[in-house]
Amino acid sequence: MGYSLSRTTLEEQWRSVQAQLIEEYGEATYSSWLKPLTIVDHLEGCLRLSAPNNFMRDWVKNHYADRVQAILQSVNDHIRQLDVIVDNSKSDKEFAEPQLLEIPEFGSNLDPRFTFENFIVGKPNELAHAAARKVAESQAVAFNPLFLYGGVGLGKTHLMHAIAWQIKKCYPKRKVIYLSAEKFMYQFVRALRFKDTVSFKEQFRSVDVLMIDDVQFISGKDSTQEEFFHTFNALVDQNRQIIISADKSPSDLEGMEERLKSRLGWGLVADIHPTTYELRLGILQAKADQMSASVPQKVLEFLAYKISSNVRELEGALTRVVAHSTLVGRDITLDTTQDVLRDLLRANDRRVTIDEIQKKVAEYYRIRVSDMHSPRRSRSVARPRQVAMYLAKQLTTRSLPEIGRKFGGRDHTTVLHAVKKVEELMGQEKIMCEDIELLRRTLES
Ligand code: ADP
Ligand code: MG
Repeated sequence: MGYSLSRTTLEEQWRSVQAQLIEEYGEATYSSWLKPLTIVDHLEGCLRLSAPNNFMRDWVKNHYADRVQAILQSVNDHIRQLDVIVDNSKSDKEFAEPQLLEIPEFGSNLDPRFTFENFIVGKPNELAHAAARKVAESQAVAFNPLFLYGGVGLGKTHLMHAIAWQIKKCYPKRKVIYLSAEKFMYQFVRALRFKDTVSFKEQFRSVDVLMIDDVQFISGKDSTQEEFFHTFNALVDQNRQIIISADKSPSDLEGMEERLKSRLGWGLVADIHPTTYELRLGILQAKADQMSASVPQKVLEFLAYKISSNVRELEGALTRVVAHSTLVGRDITLDTTQDVLRDLLRANDRRVTIDEIQKKVAEYYRIRVSDMHSPRRSRSVARPRQVAMYLAKQLTTRSLPEIGRKFGGRDHTTVLHAVKKVEELMGQEKIMCEDIELLRRTLES
């Protein structure tokens, strides 16, 4: 039987997809790339969207189409394919006139909370932090470029904004611009399109410090990268400070020319490692103070333990707990916290399975995975097994009996004993704390 959808239904569904896209990609990305898309038609499971011009069509196809299709499919499983076309009936009005780079006013795209004062320094970020400070406070160009990289939500953008604010404080005359790589590329390709790269470069030359965030988005068309490479070199030659962030190291950036990759690594490359428990706790304490919220230490410790994916999620959790307590007018306790964050905690747990834990722990202590299930009791295997049980309790939502079953059908009291034992050892031996932290980190990364 044929299937057709009314236009209104489609439009409605598209609106809900759009709402989800804003949520996932943020307002800026959404408005630049996704908002201009409109529905053309829907035929035999293929939904066609139109973009204002070729450039935007290609960009959307390369960067967002898969995700858009997946979300579409989740609201309407009849849609099995997505196509983006350029609708020629709508002329490319906004692009008709060549436009020069829109350099954002200083501060207009910087978060006032992202300062060095608000940045908590710990082992995982101390190098990146020191390098950022150095670049911000040095009289001369320190290292060029400064390349900061690390996983999502670990503070790259925060550090970049902090550099900008600090330069403004130390050297008010310096001209600083901060752009996301997408914004930069968009402007840049637009200049290319209108053969206006000369004035584009001219404009950059008036800048003392150029910061480009999330540079992993600069991939794809060779000609674009070529131009980017030349602009980059021109700026370095003129002694302009360049600061770049990405989610990977220069050599691991995909879809990027070797020459550009290597060029990006010429200055100082500083990575931000996944957070440690101590750093997470420090951040939570600082945030709780900032919010003037009284949050019991136990709750902070619980959050620091449980939410280890990234700082953004950690902050979100704290905000939710505090907001809930303000709204219902009740104190924050461990119970209310677990209740308010049930879904989030579950999502954090789902990442690690007991099998993975057993495998990693066995590897770490150099025993066989089969020893996790075996009845052997010699200390050399019993201790690692206890560590694995402890981690299974901490990192998954499995109950004690379930965990016992996974360890060769052991009783839940054995698991409980293991958990207690490891906690006790962590209180006595630094090495045990380090082992656990390291294992937790590898398991969660
Ligand atoms: P990234 O750009 O690496 O994805 P962000 O810089 O946007 O991450 O950081 C995500 C959130 O976590 C921001 O609200 C930021 O202020 C906060 N954050 C990250 N690291 C720290 C830190 N060391 N101290 C304080 N806040 C941090
Ligand atoms: Mg960022």
